Amino acid sequence: PLAPIGVTGLAVMGSNLARNFARRGHVVAVHNRSSAKTTALIENHGSEGTFVPSESIEDFVASLEKPRRVVIMVKAGDPTDAVIEELAAVMEEGDIIIDGGNALYTDTIRREADLKERGLLFVGAGISGGEEGALNGPSIMPGGPAKSYESVGPLLESIAAQVDGTPCCTHIGPDGSGHFVKMVHNGIEYADMQLIGEAYHLLRDALGKDPDAIADVFRTWNEGDLESYLVEITAEVLSHKDARTGTPLVDVIVDAAEQKGTGRWTVKSALDLGVPVTGIAEAVFARALSGARGQRAAARGLASGSLADKPQDVDAFVEDIRSALYASKVIAYAQGFDQIAAGSAEYDWNLHPGDLATIWRGGCIIRARFLNRIKDAYDENPELPSLILAPYFREAVENAVDSWRRVVSTATLLGIPVPGFASALSYYDGLRAERLPAALTQGLRDFFGAHTYERVDAEGKFHTLWSEDRSEVQA
Ligand code: NDP
Repeated sequence: PLAPIGVTGLAVMGSNLARNFARRGHVVAVHNRSSAKTTALIENHGSEGTFVPSESIEDFVASLEKPRRVVIMVKAGDPTDAVIEELAAVMEEGDIIIDGGNALYTDTIRREADLKERGLLFVGAGISGGEEGALNGPSIMPGGPAKSYESVGPLLESIAAQVDGTPCCTHIGPDGSGHFVKMVHNGIEYADMQLIGEAYHLLRDALGKDPDAIADVFRTWNEGDLESYLVEITAEVLSHKDARTGTPLVDVIVDAAEQKGTGRWTVKSALDLGVPVTGIAEAVFARALSGARGQRAAARGLASGSLADKPQDVDAFVEDIRSALYASKVIAYAQGFDQIAAGSAEYDWNLHPGDLATIWRGGCIIRARFLNRIKDAYDENPELPSLILAPYFREAVENAVDSWRRVVSTATLLGIPVPGFASALSYYDGLRAERLPAALTQGLRDFFGAHTYERVDAEGKFHTLWSEDRSEVQA
């Protein structure tokens, strides 16, 4: 039979996606540059459904029903361009190429425009959930022309995670929008993990708890508002014992965090869009600091000061950390959604933040109970100026403020780094401030560069003649 869908690139993600399609009853054409992976897939999992393997790209394309639909799951960057070229050479007008890799959204915009000229439809689809998600139900964020979604949407929805009967897959918007929101998703994932790390650090060094006890704390937290995949697996990792030494695994892992780049992309894009995603930026920088092993070795032993003062009431401080973690997480998501709104405006994507909260409820790495709250918030008011101003989140953050301040000040006194908690709190204080020192910044800019300023009591731009008689002129 001709296959309604094909997958090329059969490493971990591609082979699991192909198996997911097959298990849902779709005939799936499969192809990989080198045939070993194709053979292995058929040998190991051929009985899970109907696979149509091909060695050449021509045979692969010929095994698909029209319009042909091909998911590319190869290394992002040049390999993706190479595979697109091979496919485009043998595909026909109206065929659809879906890039499920972690492409940079500006590459997706370029590819979509190029393929459109050649009569092909291009869908840049962000896919989250790792290996396990790809096999059992990922969260899928497909962009591209609406017409393409009519054709690929039902197939993608059928393999996506489902929450309350709703698939974690929806048409995001034009060209690069799917990969853009996947990028911000990954940025939020960085922030989430950094905040979890800071909570762990405080439980360990401010309260002296061991990894097993901390795992229990996270397990308890996972029963409340913080319920999420990342909090759940934090307990798993912390309670795991190293087979070689019998000590907690976390104590034998080198404390230098690596990154593949999507967090950095998110921050670069936020800088261009002028959106303060401080939570994501601090997370990316914290990974960089952890990885500066030479500098860290040289700096070890620098004085910490003498103000150390451990919290007396352990249980109360655990609760403070929980509140600070939750409030900081709300800020990180609020900032991520601000970036999505800014990207949407910049590229005319008309994105719906509530839809994203809906499809992130399952399948993806940041899946969490509180995404239901985010969905509700945007359902109620799609024009929310900031997520923290939705009634539910406003109350949650306001209730957490005292705990948040105690945690940040205690960490500071103890010399425990909490860049995520502290910058989230500063962001909150900055956003709610009556007056910011930005007025002074404007004054300084006007002094040295005649950059002008606005007045609180008059329309227009003004300049003070600083090097003359210091009178004011209208610019
Ligand atoms: P890899 O990123 O390791 O890519 C390996 C695959 O790319 C192999 O099938 C390889 O073929 C193929 N490939 C590499 N270069 C070329 C080329 N020039 N021409 C044709 N094929 C090429 O695989 P993953 O499964 O880890 O990831 C696939 C994509 O999914 C990536 O874009 C990744 O960023 C993204 N992704 C990964 C997630 C994960 O958890 N791993 C999660 C979400 C997205 P060959 O066997 O011949 O070498």
